Amino acid sequence: MICAMANARPQILVIEDEPAQRDVIVYNLKKQGYAVRTAQNGDQAELELAELVPDLVLLDWMLPGVSGLELARRIRARPATRDVPVIMLTARGEEEDVIRGLDVGADDFITKPYSVAELMARVRSVLRRSSSGGVDILQVGDIEMNIDTNRVYVTAQEVPLGPLEFNLLRTLMQRPGRVFERDQLLNTVWGRNADVDSRTVDVHIARLRKALGPTAGGEIRTIRGRGYSLG
Ligand code: CA
Repeated sequence: MICAMANARPQILVIEDEPAQRDVIVYNLKKQGYAVRTAQNGDQAELELAELVPDLVLLDWMLPGVSGLELARRIRARPATRDVPVIMLTARGEEEDVIRGLDVGADDFITKPYSVAELMARVRSVLRRSSSGGVDILQVGDIEMNIDTNRVYVTAQEVPLGPLEFNLLRTLMQRPGRVFERDQLLNTVWGRNADVDSRTVDVHIARLRKALGPTAGGEIRTIRGRGYSLG
């Protein structure tokens, strides 16, 4: 399974059966820079969720087959998706419905008809809340990092790291595939005013690779003349 949090762009799964509504949502989310997947019903949604855990689910209440409410309940029941925020789109703004939705764990509601601006504001707000709370797990290849507990695992075995190595690894894991120049890593990990030269980065990258072991450590690539990249 791919962990969406390791991607730079937040992944949003839109579950909506009406094509026109779905298209408007998808168009606007993509325009805002989000990566978007779609499902037309509960079965498709289950397949999408099994393949990739999104950062946010936009879920229509009235779906053919499995209802949005039941789907929200299932998303909450499964360990892999338990912490994924869910915004429910509902034509039914009655208080009782909102309470039922909140009971199964929806994070927010938007009542149709809604404005695109309102929807985007809710999306931003829920993503902001979820990235500051909850358990943050980064995963790249065999390396897993729990941001909350500051623990790192390689193939489920904990790897003890010093604070500099930990912060280096976190920076690399937050943008897999991106090439970081030594100066960028210095600024991010040591701070802009630190009195260290860029060779220090090489020393700590070497320590980090050694701690991660040959396979996972080998995922940190040296990009000649530029810097380092993970994955
Ligand atoms: Ca619908």
